[in-house]
Order: sequence, then structure tokens, then C-alpha cells
Amino acid sequence: MSPPRSVLICGKRLKIKIKKLDDCHGQYVHDESTIYLSDDPGHAQEHWPTLLHEMVHACLAISGIAEVLGEKTEEAVCRSLEQLAPILALRPKNISKKYISKK
Ligand SMILES: [Zn+2]
Repeated sequence: MSPPRSVLICGKRLKIKIKKLDDCHGQYVHDESTIYLSDDPGHAQEHWPTLLHEMVHACLAISGIAEVLGEKTEEAVCRSLEQLAPILALRPKNISKKYISKK
């Protein structure tokens, strides 16, 4: 299943775009309110877990928590919470339409 075109995180609508990324599967760019996912066909299976990982980054940034965590701790938090990804990857239809959009 393709990733949504946008997600609602902490009340903020974020765009989701697929593009060429160097050496990573995904990236959250706070100033652009955008989560980028790699266009590498080999990464397509990882779009949902990567999206969850980047959504955690977005949540931490939007809430301001990322500023006090520091880069290493923020990444550790994201990696621990991304362990929820297999559940979402298997059952994306269970995610409320309020939070994801094809628009
Ligand atoms: Zn990360």
C-alpha cells in the first residue's frame, strides 16, 4: 500500500513526498512541513516503517522536545518507537482517516 500524501501530527498537516534521498530511507524537514521518503525501489517495502520513524521525528520537533533531547537521544527515541511500525505496516487501514489523507 502506498504511503498517504499527508499526515496530521500534533495538529499540523505534513506533506509526504517521494524523492531521491542520499544514504537514507526518509527525512523530516521541519521548515517545509514535509516528510520525504526515498524513491529507491529497494526502499519501497520500508515506506510505512520509515514514515512512522519520521512521524516521531516530526512529533518531537513540533512539540519542541527535540530541542532538549539532542540528536543522539532523539534518534534513539525514534528508533525505539519505530518498533511499532510492523503493526502499522500490516494494518494501515486501521489508521484513522482523520490522520492520513490522499489529498
Ligand atoms: Zn531518524
